[in-house]
Amino acid sequence: MDSVAKIAQPTIIPRSEHNISRAYISENALTVLYRLNEAGYQAYLVGGCIRDMLLGREPKDYDIATSARPNEVNALFRNCRLVGRRFRLAHINFGRETIEVATFRAPHQATPAGEEAANGRILRDNVFGTLEDDAMRRDFTVNSLYYGIDDLTIRDYTNGLKDIKKGTLQLVGDPETRYKEDPVRMLRAIRFSSKLGFRIHPDSKKPIKKLGHLLKDIPAARLYEETLKLFLGGCAVQTFDLLRHYGLFHYLFPQLDTCLEQEEHGYPLTFVSQALSNTDKRISENKPISPSFLFACLLWEPVRVLAKKLSQEEGISETQAMQMAGETVMQNQLPHISIPRRFNIPMREIWIMQLRFQHRYGQRPLRFLTHPRFRAAYDFMLLRGMAGEELQETCEWWTKLQEQPEVQRELMTKSKQKKPYHSSRRKRPAKRKKTDR
Ligand code: ATP
Ligand code: MG
Repeated sequence: MDSVAKIAQPTIIPRSEHNISRAYISENALTVLYRLNEAGYQAYLVGGCIRDMLLGREPKDYDIATSARPNEVNALFRNCRLVGRRFRLAHINFGRETIEVATFRAPHQATPAGEEAANGRILRDNVFGTLEDDAMRRDFTVNSLYYGIDDLTIRDYTNGLKDIKKGTLQLVGDPETRYKEDPVRMLRAIRFSSKLGFRIHPDSKKPIKKLGHLLKDIPAARLYEETLKLFLGGCAVQTFDLLRHYGLFHYLFPQLDTCLEQEEHGYPLTFVSQALSNTDKRISENKPISPSFLFACLLWEPVRVLAKKLSQEEGISETQAMQMAGETVMQNQLPHISIPRRFNIPMREIWIMQLRFQHRYGQRPLRFLTHPRFRAAYDFMLLRGMAGEELQETCEWWTKLQEQPEVQRELMTKSKQKKPYHSSRRKRPAKRKKTDR
């Protein structure tokens, strides 16, 4: 006879003993829960939204776990789209809000629906199970709390509530096995620890340094997504410190990590910290942040060092050196984090534009001011200046130029000695006549 796995008994927290109220839950999430329940399926809010509401924070998004299979969810909602191969999910779209609906998963098995690599990494996780099973395969205990709209209770299978109260982040199950199944959980541990100010439980902390190298096997597209969550979540400075502390930063940005080991007078650490604290500040002020600016900052030091080396040792022009360095550093980065083209093109532009700040006379600076990415390039230069590059005077000049009315700008950029027309241009060879061919 098959052995029956012992089913954990949940602690059930009644409505009177928790602070989650329907009034604070997204209308769209409630609609999805009600419709799934009406169709006879179990459905619960789970994950970050419950954790955050219990902590009195506003949830970033709403995740739902259900007994309905992905195609059954799809049949219930016209605005539904099935996504993901490794992990099949239903996305239900309501304008700008997407509610993510996942079918209960069973503990992982090496079957075609639950493919596993030789090193224990889960390649496909589509073995469906019960609510109890689902609770056991969530990453952290604090992410494994379920809220049902039918009885308004919270179901806790893993002592997650106790960990929320203690401010502890703890993996469900054996940490080493769970990190091997999905090494991205190490990055998630860092992210939640800095976002929530939780301490990582010693047992969940211990294997990280030893297993960090497993991140090398994670597809670069997934690491791109995770990197954005790590650095655009509002606590980039602390996340960066923790990633370095646990030796994980190297697997995301090996080139910068090498530069950081050769720190001189605090540079480039000061530049990166400055850039990240700026990012956090902008996020707290609800200002937009572009991934191209973030990656331009995180890869600047390797670009700067290589461009300097190329122009000094190989004698090529500054512009060409910057172009070549930008291209090389980006190509070395892409196998780790695949920055999409729509962001890596503007990223390289920010680097190249740094050279244009040297030109202060004639039409060039005035034309530069109207460039659509001038502002990004200027902010980037200010950061470089603040972090200690010798740019103070240049920064002041460009700040002043922007503050001036048009007439004054003309005066500021008027060259002291009028150069003869075309003096700096090379003479073009005369066009050959057609008959010469
Ligand atoms: P936030 O949305 O605030 O970043 P979250 O906890 O909701 O945090 P999501 O990435 O939205 O994170 O995932 C939703 C839930 O899915 C998690 O809370 C967790 O229960 C589960 N989960 C996500 N990723 C994993 C993973 N790699 N391994 C196991 N469970 C996971
Ligand atoms: Mg979430």
